[in-house]
Amino acid sequence: MRKRMALLGLAAAGGVLLGRKWWQHRREEEAHVSQSEESYHQSGTRILILGAGFGGLSTALKLDQQFGPSDNVSILVVDRNNDMLFTPLLWTVASGRADPDNILIPIRAFQRGRHFHVLHAEVVGIDLENKRVHTSAGMRSYDILVIALGSHTTMPHLPGLEEYAFPFHTPADALELRNRLIDCIEAAHRTSDPEEKQAFLTFVVGGAGDTGVELAAIIHDYVTSGLAREYPWLVNHPVRVIVAGRADRILPTSNPGIAQKTRQVLESEGIEIHTGTSVKAVTATTVETSHGTIPSHTLFWAAGTTAPHVVKELPVHHAHNGAVFVDQYLRIPTHPDVYVLGDSAWAYDSATGNPIPATAQAALHQGNYLGKAIATVIRGGQPEPYEFKMLGHLVLLGRQTGVARIGDVTLTGLPAWVVWHLVYLLRIPSMTKRLQLTLNWVLSAILGRETGQIRLQTGTPLHQKMLELQTT
Ligand SMILES: Cc1cc2nc3c(=O)[nH]c(=O)nc-3n(C[C@H](O)[C@H](O)[C@H](O)COP(=O)(O)OP(=O)(O)OC[C@H]3O[C@@H](n4cnc5c(N)ncnc54)[C@H](O)[C@@H]3O)c2cc1C
Repeated sequence: MRKRMALLGLAAAGGVLLGRKWWQHRREEEAHVSQSEESYHQSGTRILILGAGFGGLSTALKLDQQFGPSDNVSILVVDRNNDMLFTPLLWTVASGRADPDNILIPIRAFQRGRHFHVLHAEVVGIDLENKRVHTSAGMRSYDILVIALGSHTTMPHLPGLEEYAFPFHTPADALELRNRLIDCIEAAHRTSDPEEKQAFLTFVVGGAGDTGVELAAIIHDYVTSGLAREYPWLVNHPVRVIVAGRADRILPTSNPGIAQKTRQVLESEGIEIHTGTSVKAVTATTVETSHGTIPSHTLFWAAGTTAPHVVKELPVHHAHNGAVFVDQYLRIPTHPDVYVLGDSAWAYDSATGNPIPATAQAALHQGNYLGKAIATVIRGGQPEPYEFKMLGHLVLLGRQTGVARIGDVTLTGLPAWVVWHLVYLLRIPSMTKRLQLTLNWVLSAILGRETGQIRLQTGTPLHQKMLELQTT
C-alpha cells in the first residue's frame, strides 16, 4: 500500500514537472520575436505609433496581423506607461470593488508571439517636417506616424478650480476619490454643527456627460452603500450628491431616450440634477454656480477633455479641445503620412457626417480600421473611407442599476447592470484580469467593499487643507 502511495506521489510530481516544462516551452515559443530596435531602424517601412491605449494598441495588433517578418515593415509603439488602462472599469476601483492593478494590462503581454516593438518613453515633441519624434529615450524617425495619445480632463480657468477640484481619469484619481469621501465622512462624524455636517456630506460633480453622470452615481453608491457598514449613522444623515451641467439635459451628446432614462434612474436614487447650471468658482467650503452657492467641501470635475500638450502644439488645424482635425481616412490633410485616432483626433463618420465620439469603443474601432487602411496604402492600394459603427451605449449608475442600449433595445435597472459587467469583463483583453475582477467583485458582494484609505502622496496641499479644515 505504502509502495503504491509512493509511486503515485512520484507520478504526480513527475506530471507537475513535465507540465511546467511544457508550459515554459510554450511560453518560449510564444515569446516576442523582435527584441531589438535594430530591425525597426533598418526596415523598409517604419511605422511609429504614439500611445499604447485603446487606439494605439488596436492599430499595432491589426498591423501585426497584416505583415509577416518577411514584409520589411517594422512597427514601434511608444508609451510613457508600461500598461494599458481599461478606463470603463475605473468605476469599480472607485467604489471599492476592485484593485487598481485589476484594470491595468501590461503592454508587454500583448507582444507575445507578435512582431511589434515597444519603447517605454515619454513623447516630448513631434517634428512633422523632418518626420521624427523626440522622446525621453532619444529621437525616432518614421515613414508613417500614428498619433494615439488620448486626452486628459480639462480644468478651465475658474477661480479655485485648479486648487480644489478633483479630476477623474486615472487609477490614482479613483483612489483619491475614495480617500476624499472617507475624509469628508470622518469630518462630518466629528462635527456637532449640523450645517457643517451637511456641507461635508454634500458632493458636487461639475459636468453632466457620461463621466459626470457615472461619477455622481458611484459617489452616491459608495457613500450610501459601500461605507454604510463602517458608518451606520450615515443612514440618518442625508447625503447630497449634485450633478451640475451647462447643457439643458444630461448626456447632451447621447441619444435623448438614454438621457431621459438615465435621469429617471439618478433621480430615483436621490441624486440632484442641476441642468443649465455652470460652476463659476470654488472655495474650500463652497461651490458657486450660476444658480447660487452650494455649501460643500468637495467638487469633482468631469466637464470635458483636452488633447495632450504635444498634440496641441502641432502646427495643424485643431478643434476647440486641441484634438487634430483629420480627413475621412483619419489622416492629417496636410501630412498624408500622419494618422490620428482616438481622443486626440477630431474625426467625422464619412457615411453620416456626424462627429465620432471620444470613447474607447470608437478608438478601438478606428485602430482596427487604421491597421487595415495603412497596410492597404503600403501595398499600393486605396483604403475605404472610415465609417463608425456604434455597438451600443452602457451607463453604470451605482448599486445594481444602470442604463444599456444595444441596437434598438434599451435596458434599465439590474438587467442593464448585469449587461454592463458582462460586456466589459469580456472586453478586457486579459484572462488574468478577468479572473481577478470576477473574484474581487464576488468577494466585495459577500464581504463588503474596500474602505481603507491608500494615501498616494501624504501631505499633498489638498490633504493638508482637509486636515486644517477638520481642526478649525
Ligand atoms: C473615467 C472614464 C471612464 C470611461 N468610460 C468609458 C466607457 O465606459 N466606454 C467607452 O467607450 N469609453 C470610456 N471612456 C473614454 C475612453 O477611456 C477614451 O475615449 C479612450 O481611452 C481613448 O482611447 P485613446 O487610444 O485615444 O487614448 P488612451 O486609451 O487614453 O491612450 C493614450 C495613451 O497615450 C499615452 N500617452 C499620452 N501622452 C503621452 C506622452 N506624452 N508620452 C508617452 N505616452 C503618452 C498614455 O499613457 C496612454 O497609454 C472613459 C474615460 C474615463 C476617463
